[in-house]
Amino acid sequence: MKSADESTHAHDLALDAAVEFLNTKELEFGHLVDHLHEPGDARSWFVEQGVIHGTDRAGWNQRDLERVRKVRDALREVLDAVVEDRAPSAAAVDLVNRALADGRVPRLELQGSDVAVGHRHGTNEVGDALAALAGPIVTEIATGRPDRFRTCANDTCRWSFYDASPTGRRRWCDMRTCGNRAKAARHRERAKGIEIIDPVP
Ligand SMILES: [Zn+2]
Repeated sequence: MKSADESTHAHDLALDAAVEFLNTKELEFGHLVDHLHEPGDARSWFVEQGVIHGTDRAGWNQRDLERVRKVRDALREVLDAVVEDRAPSAAAVDLVNRALADGRVPRLELQGSDVAVGHRHGTNEVGDALAALAGPIVTEIATGRPDRFRTCANDTCRWSFYDASPTGRRRWCDMRTCGNRAKAARHRERAKGIEIIDPVP
């Protein structure tokens, strides 16, 4: 439930962080729990993930936290829609687009006879942080393998993850927790003579 199988983590770290971001709000014992309680929690999370630098001491306020939560919900809606093969809500699309527009923009910078790629910062640190996570998800949808986005098949987990396994048949966020629980449940039901048909991955 907490960590995906490490052997499958060979893909883009930015996409990893983006999907993990969605899981900062998770189901625990049937209740949605938000791990980003305070504005400071949110900022620390982004710093730990390497999405923003911790050097700038700018504090985040309650409004920033609300924005983080809204964009997180919107990205989750977009990802769920991809997984469920439907269109996301217009409100979620609008929020994600605004987050993208608010972030860093790459730009060419002439340095003498050389050219380097730098970036222009967005309106503020929160905007940069959210765009840095929205970007990889949208890029994956546009040019990657969006069919590899998953929601854990354990209904009490519903963890978002990206299936980077060679076969692309991962159904559980973590085989050691959710996968084993499902296997144990199937075993118990079989022992009782009940046939369980696996839900669609
Ligand atoms: Zn799970």
